[in-house]
Amino acid sequence: MAKEELECSFCGRKKPETNLLIAGLDAHICDRCIEQAHGIVIEESKQSDSSDLSAELKLRKPIQIKGFLDEYIIGQGATKKVMSVAVYNHYKRLLQPPTKDDIDIQKSNIIMVGQTGTGKTLMAKTIARMLNVPLAIVDATVLTEAGYVGEDVESILTRLLQAADYNLEKAEKGIVFIDEIDKIARKSDNPSITRDVSGEGVQQALLKLLEGTVVNVPPKGGRKHPDQKFIEVNTENILFIAGGAFDGIERVISKRLNMQAVGYSASMSDEVVDQEHLLQYIIPKDLKDFGLIPEIIGRLPVLTYMDPLDADTLRAILTEPKNAIIKQYKKLFEMDKIEFTITDGALDFIVGKAIEYKLGARGLRSLCEEILTDAMFELPSSNEKKLNVTKAYAEEKLTKTTLKKLKAVS
Ligand code: ADP
Repeated sequence: MAKEELECSFCGRKKPETNLLIAGLDAHICDRCIEQAHGIVIEESKQSDSSDLSAELKLRKPIQIKGFLDEYIIGQGATKKVMSVAVYNHYKRLLQPPTKDDIDIQKSNIIMVGQTGTGKTLMAKTIARMLNVPLAIVDATVLTEAGYVGEDVESILTRLLQAADYNLEKAEKGIVFIDEIDKIARKSDNPSITRDVSGEGVQQALLKLLEGTVVNVPPKGGRKHPDQKFIEVNTENILFIAGGAFDGIERVISKRLNMQAVGYSASMSDEVVDQEHLLQYIIPKDLKDFGLIPEIIGRLPVLTYMDPLDADTLRAILTEPKNAIIKQYKKLFEMDKIEFTITDGALDFIVGKAIEYKLGARGLRSLCEEILTDAMFELPSSNEKKLNVTKAYAEEKLTKTTLKKLKAVS
């Protein structure tokens, strides 16, 4: 074909009529057709995104959900099991076609009780990743009743919309993780004595969201843009997972167990109570005694607890999960063709320090970072192609001052 005769094989425009004509094997395509085709691709992928959700969900049964969680989260067997069932049921409810019977499957919003750093956020993140649904992580402490300084409860949904790239359909099937839910507990169980407005008010504001309602959400968040258009978000199919440390709740549990043991209901007295791990006996009433209002507890029907992390768990967290910290460093060094190894002694040393300085699982990363920074700085420019971190090496890099610094920031 002579040059001047070139034309777009899709729309027939001659080359001079186009801004750009790209040649393929036997055909040409102009800039306009590329844009149009791109639009079609985006549209199609949006559609298949939403059907993705159903396809994924059909595939995973609770045992498989737990299997997925096992790849990323060490221990916490009880919570994993409860979560797998709750998540499965929640999404089963979503996929179920409208039926004529009156059986209305209720939402399985979840509440997790456990010390900070035991993997509550990780649990929510892993589930969102598995289901490929957007996740918003919010801190209950910043929420205030409308009209007070702080963020309105609706801001939670703004975050979810952002996480879903403003795809409303995706956001409405997403997950919201509300951290530090215990911080909005009423300070006293007796509302007439301590009416603490921020705590109880926020709980009240959360109620509707948890239950399922249509909320007008400012897409950019905040009240600073009064002119912005609102997006209507239906929270009926959003899965809410709340988490909190509930410091001191063991006392509430212990008190209840003791009362049961001496009282008429002798159910617990037959069993030996594991005083070290009282959280496993938690029941909704304990949350009420702690200061959550009964309505909130009712809307978070799945209650579960996280075990504190012992040395074995911390050790496993370093090396076992799919994206374990040590695996990440190995990969980083590999990119510079450096073979990175670490001895058992060094790993035990790191775990020991995390426990001694109460740094928890979060501290493991900072400890490794302190130990490896010199090597990561120097080795890429040196000829050294091997790094074996021994206990002695780790000890040398982790001075008392660095440890104190880590403790201060944790
Ligand atoms: P929480 O939300 O309970 O405060 P996180 O989920 O934020 O705790 O955990 C902090 C970090 O500790 C996570 O990023 C993760 O790397 C690690 N971690 C905590 N618990 C576990 C666990 N059971 N398995 C694997 N990693 C964990």
